Amino acid sequence: MPFASSLPVYLSPSKLNDFTSCYRKYQYGAVERLPSKSSYALVKGRIVHLVLDKLFGLDGEGRTLEAARTFVAASKESELTETAQEEIGLDQALDIKLEEDIEKSLSGYFKLEDPTRVNKKQAEFKMKATIAETPLYGILDRLDEEEDGSLTIVDYKTGSYPRGQYYEKRFENMQIYAALFKETHKIRPANLRLLYVEAGVDDLVPINGKEVDAQVGRASAAWRMINEFYAKGEFPARPSKSACRWCPYTKECRESGVQVEA
Ligand code: SF4
Repeated sequence: MPFASSLPVYLSPSKLNDFTSCYRKYQYGAVERLPSKSSYALVKGRIVHLVLDKLFGLDGEGRTLEAARTFVAASKESELTETAQEEIGLDQALDIKLEEDIEKSLSGYFKLEDPTRVNKKQAEFKMKATIAETPLYGILDRLDEEEDGSLTIVDYKTGSYPRGQYYEKRFENMQIYAALFKETHKIRPANLRLLYVEAGVDDLVPINGKEVDAQVGRASAAWRMINEFYAKGEFPARPSKSACRWCPYTKECRESGVQVEA
């Protein structure tokens, strides 16, 4: 049966990940736009990102840990909507834990770099472009200019440092950002940098054109499949422990008859 809603205009790296982990997850989230519940990790991550974004709105010398702390209350207020509070079950104990975790992330961030010395070119900026017939979209956390004039794409992470298969894939989203930046600014940045602020890991790699092209190819193949499934009116479910464990649509999926992994 055809879908009542239109296909999204753009494919973002996070939606590409949803699609890759399970086609049906993409259907529920991106095509049918079913609401998904906030999680504690998601809310905490958004607050820390917002604080760091505000910090980089200050001039270099003003970017201190004390200044970062002054942005916490307003950032919490803007992210902890009534719905979000309900969904994560915020009570006094969880609020104390949240404050502690935010502080851990911020002090962890200041151990990784000295923001007063960072030459930020841009922060939190959106990019859209069609590459290899695939409409791509992404939001960069930060773009820095190094002393030699080269550019580094920076992304903050508040989760743990990835292991196993996730370790190998950790730069995949950023490679798509690199392709988007090159397409929109006609310059290829030199490096990708992941700052795991809570885990205390600063992970920097040079950009490799072949790897960037491979990620664009992956997005392009996914976009073709998305269009085919959309035309057929169904995205096949691919239940697996790793995909279903974090999926917000287990209820809908079970109700449609899929044997969702416990
Ligand atoms: S519950 Fe599992 S099979 Fe169903 S949509 Fe989510 S990831 Fe896919």
